[in-house]
Amino acid sequence: MPRVAGRRHREMRADEKARWSEENRPCCICGMATIDWDAQANEPDAFELEHPLPVKTHPELEFEPTNRKPSHHRCNRGKGAGQILPTIGTTSETW
Ligand SMILES: [Zn+2]
Repeated sequence: MPRVAGRRHREMRADEKARWSEENRPCCICGMATIDWDAQANEPDAFELEHPLPVKTHPELEFEPTNRKPSHHRCNRGKGAGQILPTIGTTSETW
């Protein structure tokens, strides 16, 4: 089955970014509210969507709202897949 993540992902991400930038949400990895919401995609402080439980290992959680958090590009990069504390609390559905 072909993956159809593209459009849904982009729309959801744009929506979340708009909301989070308004609240100036802190980075979910380092906890600092210094995300540069208008930065180019590859700048260290640029916004990057983080999945605390990696989509690689939890594809079913890609669109789970509680598994989508803002982060710095550099923090997201530094993390890699599969270390840190996958604590996302209670999910909105039972998966
Ligand atoms: Zn950070």
